[in-house]
Amino acid sequence: MKSYPIHEVFHSWQGEGVHMGKSAFFIRLFGCPVKCPWCDSAGTWHPDYVPEDIGKETATSLADRAASSGAQMAIVTGGEPTIHDLTALTEGLKERGMARHLETCGAFPIKGDFDWITLSPKWEAMPLDENLALADEFKLIIENPDSIEKWIRAIGGKIDGRPVWLHPEWSMRDDKATLESITGFVKKHGGFFRAGYQLHKLYHADELDPDVQKPAPLGGKPELGY
Ligand code: SF4
Repeated sequence: MKSYPIHEVFHSWQGEGVHMGKSAFFIRLFGCPVKCPWCDSAGTWHPDYVPEDIGKETATSLADRAASSGAQMAIVTGGEPTIHDLTALTEGLKERGMARHLETCGAFPIKGDFDWITLSPKWEAMPLDENLALADEFKLIIENPDSIEKWIRAIGGKIDGRPVWLHPEWSMRDDKATLESITGFVKKHGGFFRAGYQLHKLYHADELDPDVQKPAPLGGKPELGY
């Protein structure tokens, strides 16, 4: 029976993107080879934070827990969840009538059947064209005032027509120039570009579930904060 390495499984709400505010059951898997310097889930891959013994859970158990949670959707995330074969998990969720959402950087082939794919590209491992075509929405992490133009040059021709969220990288969430670059871009271009944020963090929503793990600092670096 297929099982997955589990970092945390919890019920909260989706804090980002088109489905923001909806009740959601999160399945956060261990492992990511991308290693972004400001990653907000470094506990899934950084050697200082990953435990020696990683617990596993079967697809059946995860699907049962998701279905009984009362959430509107199951969100498979990480780490980078697509380094795992997600077929058994998505089959189990589908059998139980759960909407299946994926959060991915898009750099690896997607194995599994999803209703909604949020693709957040990373410079450290650029997305595959096949995944750019599959995505339902994009989340661009805006690290500094030049980030938006860099991303548009890199993948702008492949994302037209679907929502593109511009999220300040979390350690830059109070950086005036970075925030103003997002505001200015949306005011100038509008269309499918939208200013984004990680609203659940303002609410401390995830922390209310006792199964949520203590977060690692951004990128595993204490100087960047949480
Ligand atoms: S932000 Fe995503 S892709 Fe980057 S290191 Fe973290 S989990 Fe991996």
